Amino acid sequence: MRLSNRASNISPSPTLAIDAKAKKMMAEGEKVINFGVGEPDFDTPELIKAAAIKAIQTGMTKYTPVAGIEQLKKAIVKKLKQDNGLDYQPNQIVVSVGAKHSLYNTFQVLCQEGDEVVLPAPYWVSYLEQIRLTGAVPRIIEARADNGFKITPEDVDRVVNERTKVILLNSPSNPTGAVYTRAELEALGEVIVKHKLMVISDEIYEKLIYDNLEHISIAALSPELKDLTVVINGVSKAYAMTGWRIGYAAAPVSIARAMTDLQSHSTSNPTSIAQAASVAAIEGTQEPLKQMVSEFAKRRDYMLERLQSIPGIYCDRPGGAFYLFPEISSYFGKSYGHIVINSATDFAGLLLNEVKVAVVPGVAFGCDKNFRLSYATSMENIKEGMDRIADFLSDLN
Ligand code: PMP
Ligand code: GLU
Repeated sequence: MRLSNRASNISPSPTLAIDAKAKKMMAEGEKVINFGVGEPDFDTPELIKAAAIKAIQTGMTKYTPVAGIEQLKKAIVKKLKQDNGLDYQPNQIVVSVGAKHSLYNTFQVLCQEGDEVVLPAPYWVSYLEQIRLTGAVPRIIEARADNGFKITPEDVDRVVNERTKVILLNSPSNPTGAVYTRAELEALGEVIVKHKLMVISDEIYEKLIYDNLEHISIAALSPELKDLTVVINGVSKAYAMTGWRIGYAAAPVSIARAMTDLQSHSTSNPTSIAQAASVAAIEGTQEPLKQMVSEFAKRRDYMLERLQSIPGIYCDRPGGAFYLFPEISSYFGKSYGHIVINSATDFAGLLLNEVKVAVVPGVAFGCDKNFRLSYATSMENIKEGMDRIADFLSDLN
């Protein structure tokens, strides 16, 4: 049996693959420290769970409108106004099965063969495959580490041509944690408007932001930019709801309609019960979120300090998300026993097999000089994992 070209060319999500491997090792009794997957370790707040239980008990167990229940769309509209200064109508909101699905729908309705999509690297793993699945070509531009892993308007200008249709922005970023300032987004906004690019603005880490930094949605900078932007967000990261699978897009009406039509033939509505839970998440008290953010900030500081104290490791202080993305290339050429480390992939493989610490090699994000650590795990795990990494690196010859 021959699979379609589409299926044959796709590679599985490396972040999920590493998580699966780490979890399998744990199930087999190994004491693995998992810095691999980006998933809050906190439990979903009780208030949110209670809303889901109530939804089941009151019979909210049927199909809902494809793009989501009115109550959730209205809660999202209110949130976008309050938090981001954005004015949308409920018919511009499409609720999907996680932000990953919202992104998938967006790429599917915007891109096709012959189009190019500007993708800043380091990039989150799924963008690349989702772009390719549409037949469009990703035009990767490297965000320099010495510019805080952020792209500049000149970077964009250099790659734009008549085929360029879309630019992907992700602030705060996975995997670097970089947060774009208002001024940086304004400058990018100018080239975007000049070239009339559509922006897919993935803001899933909006709430996980530190050091009093402010999250800015590029869509809020001008009416022109809003018309060119699809804002992507969701409840997974902010409310520790990764398993509930609710994400959403806010978009110009014609795009929202196309996404809804597409979704009507794939998943139909996202789960009714998870939608009810998401209303509670967005409209309810934000206290659990505040506690999570303050805990993440402490972990980031500790992990960063530990990394920066390792000779030859370089790591910037990121402003958001829950990842660090240190450079490891000064260790290339060194050996563990008789095995030589020539890439971050070699390093990550050895680290997992030899000292049972899961990290994601940078190649998954388009940059194999670095590796990604998620600090969405307990302080105890972080201490133990950092001890293991420091010992492992000091043992290399
Ligand atoms: N965008 C980025 C940058 C992410 O890291 C993730 C995490 N998986 C997603 C989107 C998708 O989130 P969700 O769990 O809502 O599908
Ligand atoms: N976004 C998370 C990560 O990057 C979850 C895994 C995934 O969806 O790929 O680790």
